[in-house]
Amino acid sequence: MAASSYQYDLCIVGAGLFGSAAARHASTLHPEWKICIIGPEEPKERSIVHDRDIFGAHYDEGRIARCVDRSPVYTKFSQESIKRFAELEQASGIEFFTEVGNLLVGSRGTDFIKEISSTIERDNIQCDQLSGNAMKKKFPFLNLPEEDIVFFEETNAGYISPRKMIDAQLSIASRNGCDIIRDIVKTVNRIVITTGHVVELVTDRRTTYMARRVLLATGAFTTLRQLLGPNMQPDVRLMPISVAKVEISAEDAGRIRSMPTVIYFGKGNKGWWDDIPSDGRGRSGFYMLPPIRYPDGKYYLKLGNFPEFQGVDDIQTAADLKAWYCLKDETVLSRALGRLIQTLIPGVKMKSFKPDRCVIVETPTLRPYLDMLHSQLGLVTGGNGWAAKSSDEIGRLAVGMIMGGIEDEELTADMFTTRYKMRSQSKL
Ligand SMILES: Cc1cc2nc3c(=O)[nH]c(=O)nc-3n(C[C@H](O)[C@H](O)[C@H](O)COP(=O)(O)OP(=O)(O)OC[C@H]3O[C@@H](n4cnc5c(N)ncnc54)[C@H](O)[C@@H]3O)c2cc1C
Repeated sequence: MAASSYQYDLCIVGAGLFGSAAARHASTLHPEWKICIIGPEEPKERSIVHDRDIFGAHYDEGRIARCVDRSPVYTKFSQESIKRFAELEQASGIEFFTEVGNLLVGSRGTDFIKEISSTIERDNIQCDQLSGNAMKKKFPFLNLPEEDIVFFEETNAGYISPRKMIDAQLSIASRNGCDIIRDIVKTVNRIVITTGHVVELVTDRRTTYMARRVLLATGAFTTLRQLLGPNMQPDVRLMPISVAKVEISAEDAGRIRSMPTVIYFGKGNKGWWDDIPSDGRGRSGFYMLPPIRYPDGKYYLKLGNFPEFQGVDDIQTAADLKAWYCLKDETVLSRALGRLIQTLIPGVKMKSFKPDRCVIVETPTLRPYLDMLHSQLGLVTGGNGWAAKSSDEIGRLAVGMIMGGIEDEELTADMFTTRYKMRSQSKL
């Protein structure tokens, strides 16, 4: 028997950074809509022996936020998102942004430095160039090459807690009437009902929901369930990422509390890249966050190297994806990254070392996919490792898209069209 109606005007699948932003924007812009967001909470434990195979790129307390980004599109997304952080914090009562500033440091003549200079100029971003001496004076505890080029973005930059940002987005969405359903969507199908077509969603807990429109915001896990058509395989690289967290004492954390976030690309100091992959010309890159207090009450400094220098193969199977999230042992790389932290901030004492792992979704366009797969099903994915800070704007655009099209003077829908690969090219 055909169903006769739908329960939701919009169902968002995936309560991560993009999905939660979309839920807030949709429920704020369309109070007349019945909206829900379906996604599991962060698991208390990630274990290979448990059934759970869906995780997220937001299980952390630190993601760098800065307006200067690699591409004009991401710079725009960052600027638009960051300018709404204060309003979002105020409306939700949840603080997630710490404005410590961001240092961009690199060897002279690198494309990295050239791109930063032109972005600052083109987009008129408030960012000062510091001499090596000035940097040493401002941040005496940092051991960075003095001959390098340094840009300091002091305002509208720092770091966000992705966990708290999602809490902030969801608390406003919930207040606006959006239902938050803690489940995993297993299948998405368009079906015929008496009044036309609706999208039917069935979850792992065997509940069925009917929605007029569906937005998939499922990150690296988009192809793990039957959410897309049978032959639809978005062309993305799932890049396994190792990071290092070094625990330091509360006293050390207090001593370096003015530390900004740091992004580095270049030759570095002697020994930096001994155990870290580089580009063949002796250059490599990393990002580092200042001491952050984690839920266990301890302070950690976090460092990851650039995804292109991780030196590991892309994830090819669902089993590998689960294993990457669940295995907690340190990798050779995470240990090397831990050692690099101690070289960069020589005065602090490492109390303990914690490796962590995550997965980045990279698109061949290096822009997110923001696309309608059919008139009732939208997709937003492909953060390319830079999109936590930009997620609020990407979520807003996704809602615009599902309503009828991206409305922006500088952006056109074809910039975000999904590219596909053949099913046989992937076992995911
Ligand atoms: C190590 C690391 C460091 C990073 N550092 C930075 C940084 O410094 N600055 C920055 O801006 N960005 C950074 N990023 C990138 C940023 O975290 C991602 O771009 C962002 O999380 C992407 O958001 P998303 O919503 O697409 O995916 P996610 O945040 O992963 O959210 C996807 C959600 O969908 C859910 N889901 C999946 N499948 C289903 C299903 N079938 N049913 C229901 N729910 C489902 C998942 O559980 C998850 O909650 C980093 C990423 C990593 C991995």
